[in-house]
Amino acid sequence: MTRRKLVAGNWKMNGSLGALSELDAIAEAAESHAGVDVAVAVPSTLIAPAVSRVPALMIGAQDVHAADKGAHTGCISAAMAKEAGARFSIVGHSERRADQSETDADVKAKAEALRGQDMQAIVCVGETLDEREAGRAEAVVTAQVAGSLPEGASGDWCAIAYEPVWAIGTGRTPTADDVAAMHGAIRAKLRAMIGDVADRLRILYGGSVTPDNARELLHVSDVDGALVGGASLTAAKFVPIIAAAD
Ligand code: PEP
Repeated sequence: MTRRKLVAGNWKMNGSLGALSELDAIAEAAESHAGVDVAVAVPSTLIAPAVSRVPALMIGAQDVHAADKGAHTGCISAAMAKEAGARFSIVGHSERRADQSETDADVKAKAEALRGQDMQAIVCVGETLDEREAGRAEAVVTAQVAGSLPEGASGDWCAIAYEPVWAIGTGRTPTADDVAAMHGAIRAKLRAMIGDVADRLRILYGGSVTPDNARELLHVSDVDGALVGGASLTAAKFVPIIAAAD
């Protein structure tokens, strides 16, 4: 089964109106590498200006609330993100799981809220260093997949991002063999849960992807793309990662 690769950027709490100029070359690269899907999750304040600057590029949010509206100060709903122009959102990023104590059930509900708005979801999972060193990485990650996978998940609107917590923003990455083993375990878990539909879901790798390691990581078996933090902030670094996926 061939799956189109998806290279998604995550600007986290970075960026400004001025920084949106980086999107021009990213949008051009997305157009010239037509075999790769390219997306950028910007801070919610930048969604609308990003969409108006590069309408063809898939712009998304970094989180949405599971509820449609209500007394949730500081949050935005999937409908609000959509109205601003977002076509997708990341959910369950490890920084939110840690900083906002988000559970698998929360992440699942957020992904389902996105589905309710005809938006795409990138559902993040990943083990901590302690969990890896204790030999529990696969058990932890497959349990997160089981708890976070939204109802009706399909390749049309849902992707999983495997992001070892210890690899995010650290410059450390797992070996290609470790990535292949984890992506294989995630695929097997998905098959057990949703049967053949699992073969259409993209599983992205995330954690210190750079222009230097992208080609190797992006062509590991069962790696269907990348979720990229720091290196997505500038076109100079993100465009070569897009090219490496092609
Ligand atoms: C991320 O934030 O999802 C991420 C993978 O960050 P970085 O690429 O900077 O490690």
